Amino acid sequence: MQTNLAEWARNSHDGQAIDEILRKCVHCGFCQATCPSYQILGNELDSPRGRIYLIKEMVEGKTPTAVSQQHLDLCLTCRNCETTCPSGVQYGKLLDIGRQVMADKVKRGFTERLQRKILARGLNSPVFGISVRLGRIVRSFIPKTLANKLPVARPAGVLPSGNHVRKVLVPVGCVQPELMPSIDAATIRVLNAAGISAYDLPARACCGAVNFHLDQTRPSLQQMRHNIDTWVPLLESGKIEAIVMNASGCGAFVKEYPFHLREDPVYTEKAKYLVEYVKDVAELLAPHSQELVQKFKKKLPDSVAFHPPCTLQHWQGLRPLTEKLLTELGFKLTAFGESHLCCGAAGTYSVLHPEVAMPLRDRKLEAIQAGGPVNAIITSNMGCMTHLQSGTNTPVRHWIEVVDEVLSA
Ligand code: SF4
Ligand code: SF4
Repeated sequence: MQTNLAEWARNSHDGQAIDEILRKCVHCGFCQATCPSYQILGNELDSPRGRIYLIKEMVEGKTPTAVSQQHLDLCLTCRNCETTCPSGVQYGKLLDIGRQVMADKVKRGFTERLQRKILARGLNSPVFGISVRLGRIVRSFIPKTLANKLPVARPAGVLPSGNHVRKVLVPVGCVQPELMPSIDAATIRVLNAAGISAYDLPARACCGAVNFHLDQTRPSLQQMRHNIDTWVPLLESGKIEAIVMNASGCGAFVKEYPFHLREDPVYTEKAKYLVEYVKDVAELLAPHSQELVQKFKKKLPDSVAFHPPCTLQHWQGLRPLTEKLLTELGFKLTAFGESHLCCGAAGTYSVLHPEVAMPLRDRKLEAIQAGGPVNAIITSNMGCMTHLQSGTNTPVRHWIEVVDEVLSA
């Protein structure tokens, strides 16, 4: 794609980065076929190619409007288009920079700014846990989109006292420990069964994704630097061998720290070092499948459907590895159509854009149902889990919780 950059874009790092990505796009439109927002809304401007044009027009000098911004907002950042694109267009990075540049040029309305600020502050707040407990009590009086985000908590249970030579950090994130404490606890127990202990670092710390996706770039960058300053010394001193992620959304975001910190050379280098040690829990457990199977005390559920989150399959490329591990552990995975498509959760997207998120959820659940009867749906990201659970009575769980359950007496 040929570009004719406006002067401000020619003279800015962001403009140059956008230009480099745009030049790879050949307008073929293959990406349209796998774009969930395009499939629901049917408007070219809500497709990857349409959004690419809007960003191109902006760097070529056209003043963006609130309508252009809405089209970028409606992107689920699933990156299905990146997996599909034959030309290797880095759409995700293009959108991240494009949204930031547009946020400087288009002022959002008061209500929208307030909504984004409340969400960002609320989810990062130290009193988030209290709000969750209160929300569960008054569930029937709060808006359905919020009530859907409050799953019935499964208790954490007892943590192992094992002290193995191998140690990893399982970061305590922002919302997951409050909404579903069983996931971190199950991760720690399963790792323990594989001969790996979790290093004790109890302070909650968001990876920065929540703030980033709600236009709060500065606090997001602060959170990234804070995590780097906490985690890198532990890795360098040999106290831990890896940072283990059990939420694919957080893992995918942390793996992009070097990109987000690209204007800060010192932290870019530290981030590159860190990323080498960031592992999804499936990556860490892959070599231990048989050892774990030997310790199973119960049977796995008969038939389950594995929903691969976009942040696992399209961002991190870890779908085959996770499915291979699950199969080696003995899961009988039911195949279903459109497994590449987003379920509509996408972080806070499902709260901000239920008109797209809900039809995508229902479409995903219908596809799973059409694949045959399942006893449970398993996944690798709590956001997908709560979103899907709000539309079905079939239990939706993190796969690590199911493995933990069959390891327990
Ligand atoms: S598939 Fe790739 S090259 Fe083709 S229009 Fe989409 S982004 Fe551009
Ligand atoms: S990231 Fe997902 S929703 Fe956004 S344009 Fe690409 S395929 Fe469509």
